[in-house]
Amino acid sequence: MAQILIVEDEVKIARFLELELKYEGYTVHIASNGREGLEKGLNPDIDLIILDLMLPILSGIEVCRRIRQTSDVPIIMLTAKDDVSDKVMGLDMGADDYITKPFAIEELLARMRVALKRKKTDTINDSILSFNNLTLNKQQRQVKVNKEEIILTKKEFELLAYLLENKNIVLSRENILERVWGFEYYGDTNIIDVYIRYLRGKIDQKYSMDMIHTVRGVGYLIKDVV
Ligand code: CA
Repeated sequence: MAQILIVEDEVKIARFLELELKYEGYTVHIASNGREGLEKGLNPDIDLIILDLMLPILSGIEVCRRIRQTSDVPIIMLTAKDDVSDKVMGLDMGADDYITKPFAIEELLARMRVALKRKKTDTINDSILSFNNLTLNKQQRQVKVNKEEIILTKKEFELLAYLLENKNIVLSRENILERVWGFEYYGDTNIIDVYIRYLRGKIDQKYSMDMIHTVRGVGYLIKDVV
């Protein structure tokens, strides 16, 4: 069953949602401020986030914006009645849907089902990436060249997936650092070069492929062979 994160500082509402969602069979996690919501929301096991907008430490809008830098997890915002600008801003930041307080639990459950179903469809469609004879299966976290599996570390896998998702687009080191390593990483961008070298060793050199290209002074890209 899906794992739901509730980010809500009002204890009564959080508790009410927790009980209702557990009753429906969901696994429920709670965060009571924006920072905690961001930390928990970046856990890839979370299938959907219910995000209150008025939160201590970090606003819901900011939480949404930062999660969207690295994750497509469905987000349903909880907004105050008639606060149109919050709704618009939240949707601009990549939230999938919103529900206005006070709300009927049935309506929230229905919106959650829609968002979860959409996520499932998206995941299946986007889960296989490829280049020549190489395929990367995001769901199974598996990379193969022809039928042979290539063992990658977590970061190598994520870096390769990000390059493949953006095939034919030059990605700067800063962009890669932000999207693959995340905002919590404070080191410099040399780490990208190191990981590119690992990937080239395991794939380009081993299988004589010309997959990862360096764009001098900018970054890297994977180019479709024409
Ligand atoms: Ca609140």
